Amino acid sequence: PTAIIWFRRDLRLADNPALQAALDAGLRPLPVYIHAPEEEGAWVPGAASNAWLARSLAALQAELRQRGSDLLILRGSSLACLQALLAASGAQAVYWNRRYEPAISSRDTGIKQVLRDTGCQVRSFNGRLLAEPWQLMTGQGTPYKVFTPYWKALSAQLRLPVSMTAPDFLPAVPALELPAGLHCALESLGLAPSLGWDRGFWERFQPGEAGAMEALETFTDGALAGYLGQRDLPDRTGTSLLSPHLHFGEIAPWRIANSVSELRNSHAEADAAGYIRQLAWRDFGHYTLHHFPHSSQTDLNPRFQRMAWNPAEQDFLQAWQQGRTGVPIVDAGMRELWHTGWMHNRVRMIVGSWLCKHMRLHWLHGARWFWDTLVDADLANNSLGWQWIAGTGVDAAPYFRIFNPVTQAQKFDPQARYISHWVPELDRLPVTGRFAPWLHGGVAGYPRQPIVDLAAGRAQALSAYQATAHS
Ligand code: FAD
Repeated sequence: PTAIIWFRRDLRLADNPALQAALDAGLRPLPVYIHAPEEEGAWVPGAASNAWLARSLAALQAELRQRGSDLLILRGSSLACLQALLAASGAQAVYWNRRYEPAISSRDTGIKQVLRDTGCQVRSFNGRLLAEPWQLMTGQGTPYKVFTPYWKALSAQLRLPVSMTAPDFLPAVPALELPAGLHCALESLGLAPSLGWDRGFWERFQPGEAGAMEALETFTDGALAGYLGQRDLPDRTGTSLLSPHLHFGEIAPWRIANSVSELRNSHAEADAAGYIRQLAWRDFGHYTLHHFPHSSQTDLNPRFQRMAWNPAEQDFLQAWQQGRTGVPIVDAGMRELWHTGWMHNRVRMIVGSWLCKHMRLHWLHGARWFWDTLVDADLANNSLGWQWIAGTGVDAAPYFRIFNPVTQAQKFDPQARYISHWVPELDRLPVTGRFAPWLHGGVAGYPRQPIVDLAAGRAQALSAYQATAHS
């Protein structure tokens, strides 16, 4: 008997509960990926995500082929594809690992129902999180809204699965007669960019399971010892760079937690604990999105839905997107994003604060741009991050906390190395002048003044937020 293994955001063979369960039950796995972006609701994956996905699927397909199997690529409605595949293969079971985005989980519930009604066995698994959203509730039975008590509850009941290696051999995929147009080659999905704007991405990242394992090893051998001291410094590789691998499920979070925990009881014990706490923020993002499904679209704190945003929206937004706001650390971050598909967390907070506070644009403008340009664009983490920085979400930074981009840069990029790398125009100034070039006469080829005056922008943001918060 055959079980269809529906790969989604779990593009790996090791630590894959759906695949493992099929093998344990003596079923022949029939691996499939279904391309159905229109089923993602308001958040159809963006261009950078697609560029990654193309490579990740190719890597998974190659790994499966090496083991004697294959990855079928289908395009069309997920339900119709699964039904056609069940009919053509004679399989009587469909297994998958769960996703938690609202549009996808309601789609999956529907598919489960329809398939079960026809007598098909459908099983879904947790392949993505340390704990699933419904496993942790407050004493009152309500969802946590603050990270620290959530983290306490999570760490108290955390039982990490043992890491499992990928199977060595898998049964071959038989030739199947599928309706015309359903089965296609990966290249025909048009995911990979034709113009090569993604070149810079691959200098930093290697999509796929092998790349994820390598990134983990590089991190545990290197930056992990010292993580707490270095994780806020964007001029070096002080973090794991695992976020896109985690987003596409090329590695299980518990494998990362298991490897990192091996460093407990060593000189890096505090770093290891700090790292796992950070990984729990990712779970908390999924938790929040599950319990507050509208949080990817509207301010969780409804007060802020009445906020007066800046009418000069388009010019401000473009300057921000293109990294020419005249604020070096902001421009450096936006250029890093454009060239590498990734931005350091500290800088994400600085550019986010600048957008929502100094420029007074709704956080959704920022969230949408990140969605299109980040290789780790993830609805749960992106919504959490933006609502946090805008001060409108669960466990958000208080609205009156407005980052000063100059002092932030001086503190976290003290030699202006990060700024110089991404904004080389400023190299003609001494290091001390690169944080706020307008105070040092400026340089040709770079805005003379920031697009918003720092003090005036801060004052206007405070009064707009205050008026809304106390209305
Ligand atoms: P590390 O420091 O090595 O952390 C390890 C892992 O823990 C990360 O890979 C990530 O999965 C998780 N993690 C760490 N910090 C956070 C956090 N604050 N929130 C949630 N998870 C976290 N992360 C995304 O994966 N996708 C997004 O779309 C995304 N959008 C963001 C938007 C804003 C405005 C902000 C402020 C943050 C956003 N983040 C997002 C969170 C964070 O910036 C990235 O996860 C992190 O920079 C990834 O780099 P890393 O893997 O080297 O992190």
